[in-house]
Amino acid sequence: MEENMDEIRISGLEVYAYHGVFPEENEKGQHFYINAVLYTDTRKAGITDELSDSTNYGLVCEEMAHAMTEQCFHLLERAAEYVAQHVLMTFPLVREIELEICKPEAPIPLTFSNVSVKIRRGWHTVYLGLGSNLGDSRQYLQTALEKLSASDQIRGVKSSEWIRTKPYGVLEQPDFLNGAAVMETLLTPWELLDFLHEVEAEAGRVRKERWGARTLDLDILFYDDNVIDSERLTIPHADMINREFVLAPLAELNPHLRHPITGETVQEMLKKLRQKA
Ligand code: ATP
Ligand code: CA
Ligand code: CA
Repeated sequence: MEENMDEIRISGLEVYAYHGVFPEENEKGQHFYINAVLYTDTRKAGITDELSDSTNYGLVCEEMAHAMTEQCFHLLERAAEYVAQHVLMTFPLVREIELEICKPEAPIPLTFSNVSVKIRRGWHTVYLGLGSNLGDSRQYLQTALEKLSASDQIRGVKSSEWIRTKPYGVLEQPDFLNGAAVMETLLTPWELLDFLHEVEAEAGRVRKERWGARTLDLDILFYDDNVIDSERLTIPHADMINREFVLAPLAELNPHLRHPITGETVQEMLKKLRQKA
């Protein structure tokens, strides 16, 4: 979670809805109670006293109630995911939400006071590296950006200039067109990787050798300040410090961005790499 975020808190919002695994629950319905913490920046509204500079919590309550009743789910988990996503997509100033849905009348034949599911979801800042060296590279890169922007799980896509670069690793292949892009996403790192692979496949990419020629390559460079080292995914991208074609476009987007492990800024990494060359 981002540091220094302000909070708008809503508690005990009562909604009559029909979620549950038993048919009787779907027919008769029951009371649900919602607790939510909206993580946002209230500074501007704190200065101007204008509602338009903040998030209208009355509207948030209405939208959450609407999302709770517009569909009927089996699971609280699903309802929570749905409501959280709806709030994040509807209120642009809300960066993260912690959402708890309580079901105190759940059909359990024992005495209890409450059951609830609590989740935390939000927009994440992602930097991607893009490359192409087969076919109409500019078009492949442009189309990839359009497909990313078209996803409702991604917003605010901004890209660097495209730069022409010599191939890396495998030298006997056409020059590359490379660039970087920054965006916000609701997807997890693994969901994002799957989506990027789909976009690559739609560009007709055939995976043969690593570093070989390709119509489109989309790499995750940074995902917030997450550090991930799993079989499928290494974040930050492992070889970025050795690649000018990654660092130069990144520096154009955000020279002060810091590597979460080394603490170095993109600008510093780029300077070091150029000194080595
Ligand atoms: P490089 O990763 O060194 O730039 P490449 O882009 O040519 O090489 P690919 O064939 O595109 O390599 O990807 C091989 C695998 O790398 C992918 O299937 C993916 O699971 C994995 N991978 C690990 N970390 C990342 C990351 N940060 N972004 C994209 N793919 C990643
Ligand atoms: Ca790559
Ligand atoms: Ca890749």
